Amino acid sequence: MTDWSPLTQELAEWREATLALPFWWRDDDAVSETPALHRLAEMTADVGMPVFVAVIPADADASLARFVERTPHVSPLVHGWAHRNHASPGEKKAEFGSGRRLEERIGEARSGRNRLQDLFGARLNPIFVPPWNRIGSDLLPHLPELGFTALSAFAPRTRAQAAPGLAQINTHIDPIDWRGTRSLVAPERLIAQTVALLRNRRIGVADNSEPLGLLTHHLVHDAAIWSFCAELAGRLMSGPAVPWHPVKRNTPDEPS
Ligand SMILES: [Zn+2]
Repeated sequence: MTDWSPLTQELAEWREATLALPFWWRDDDAVSETPALHRLAEMTADVGMPVFVAVIPADADASLARFVERTPHVSPLVHGWAHRNHASPGEKKAEFGSGRRLEERIGEARSGRNRLQDLFGARLNPIFVPPWNRIGSDLLPHLPELGFTALSAFAPRTRAQAAPGLAQINTHIDPIDWRGTRSLVAPERLIAQTVALLRNRRIGVADNSEPLGLLTHHLVHDAAIWSFCAELAGRLMSGPAVPWHPVKRNTPDEPS
């Protein structure tokens, strides 16, 4: 049995201090409507929160567009372009790392947004999620020109804006043991990580205006991962968590 008591104790501190926790759930690598995507949508509906799905533009299909259209709490984001690794051998994987010509990367980021805009229309959130959560910093000032309002990677943000006009909205908890079993990281470790993230926010060491992000990958979840995510999100949502929603883009230049 997993011992959730460290989290229970931390959440009691939040209640005592009457603090609210902005919270969001990002799930990566969607391309089609699948049983796993249905499960993700049901699970997030059950805990009463939206789910932001980072969609791979080059591979996304019409079934996904139809699914999003009829599932209002599932919100698409732009997951790079083709989820292709362009890093040199021995370097960490990246599609938008600085090793590639900037013009090429700008072109692919633009194509990604355009393709998903065509598929999802107004349902698209213009948030750029670089595959493997890595991006060359020289691309950041160009993302607002392409219509992106935010960047989402991993780890507590060190500043609220990644570039002028580009908010930084990261994720923080990844339950998958990518380099080992590819199943669930030891739950006690995940709970300890979550408690540390929460404590830093509560005592003012970390920025509690950045929504705390749970990062999942629905296509590779086993039973242990699914049930941990449901339990964690449920516990946060019955405590201080308030689902985060992106601020709608201001478009003063467009006719109303
Ligand atoms: Zn990905």
